[in-house]
Amino acid sequence: HCSRSEPPELRQSFLVTVAYNKDESPIKLNLGVGAYRTEEGKPLVLDVVRRAEQLLVNDQSRVKEYLPITGLADFNKLSAKLIFGSDSQAIQENRVTTVQCLSGTGSLRVGAEFLAKHYHQRTIYIPRPTWGNHPKVFTIAGLSVEYYRYYEPTTRGLDFQGLLEDLSSAPSGAIVLLHACAHNPTGVDPTLEQWEQIRQLMRSKGLLPFFDSAYQGFASGSLDADAQPVRMFVADGGECLAAQSYAKNMGLYGERVGALSIVCKTADVASRVESQLKLVIRPMYSNPPIHGPSIVATILKDRDMYNEWTIELKAMADRIISMRQQLFDALSARGTPGDWSHIIKQIGMFTFTGLNTEQVAFMTKEYHIYMTSDGRISMAGLSSKTVPHLADAIHAAVTQ
Ligand code: PMP
Repeated sequence: HCSRSEPPELRQSFLVTVAYNKDESPIKLNLGVGAYRTEEGKPLVLDVVRRAEQLLVNDQSRVKEYLPITGLADFNKLSAKLIFGSDSQAIQENRVTTVQCLSGTGSLRVGAEFLAKHYHQRTIYIPRPTWGNHPKVFTIAGLSVEYYRYYEPTTRGLDFQGLLEDLSSAPSGAIVLLHACAHNPTGVDPTLEQWEQIRQLMRSKGLLPFFDSAYQGFASGSLDADAQPVRMFVADGGECLAAQSYAKNMGLYGERVGALSIVCKTADVASRVESQLKLVIRPMYSNPPIHGPSIVATILKDRDMYNEWTIELKAMADRIISMRQQLFDALSARGTPGDWSHIIKQIGMFTFTGLNTEQVAFMTKEYHIYMTSDGRISMAGLSSKTVPHLADAIHAAVTQ
């Protein structure tokens, strides 16, 4: 989706922030960031995270020794339960191996390295478009990247027919990357009925699902609802990989906490897979950091803290959903030409506006609004105060 002629400085969110920081206008607005912001535009540390950190600091018995190669055992067990469900049969049958990795990216990379070394098919299908780092992570690990159709610009929705056709013509055994929920950058997810069709097709062709779960709980506000597609695939007894990130849903971005789980057909395979994962991890970074997973484990194993977390998580999700409504209402009030209902239909942190590169450049130049050049805006970077400014800019961009 990124044409070669695009200004490279606007393609990536990190580079958007560099440009934003240089802008001296008081009205500037950064909608490129992939991190949650409060209504006041500030980064947020969850209260429950502060509370867990306080407990950890006060516990004098805690030391800073190395973790095992696979990370904190409690954290791994709790992470598997969080994504697969506490009643998961695969977990009960010891068919799941989970290793702590460096957030979502590190989990994807470890999974990719493992597959490139040990899996019989080296081709991975990823959606077009997808998060910009996906093709890089998989290619550098030695997998060959192919695309499946995903987004239909005319409807600003899912190209479900195209998706089914492309997966149908994938070679048997190929790996398929699936965004578990809140697809980045489009905010377009299949319905549960569509997921079921995707599952049936993939299982009938022996395609291997690799879920990227970077937004569990952040999409709908419900941890269980957002994990539903993953659980459908695990419930059928087949194999699957899942990369989890705690960056967004616990706000632990810089702590780099995540997990890779591989669901196998038998407990014996799972234990052999774990041995091989250790051989992948050992020469990469030896063992993962200790502070972040300790925070997560503290929260996940305490009922009271877990509940507090779900409330704070839902508040973040709800604020984003409310920003969608406010932006949609502001455009309706201005009579901005076009159908903007996708703003309220799309899911997760981002809205894929449908604005083109020129319109984005116009909004940056005239309104000091920064976003990736594919027209993706971070709803988490908006507030009630800034919605009118954005709506004015969009209105001007499409009527200029
Ligand atoms: N996958 C997707 C789809 C993402 O959007 C992100 C974060 N932007 C990640 C993975 C990885 O993030 P992190 O490594 O910070 O967990």
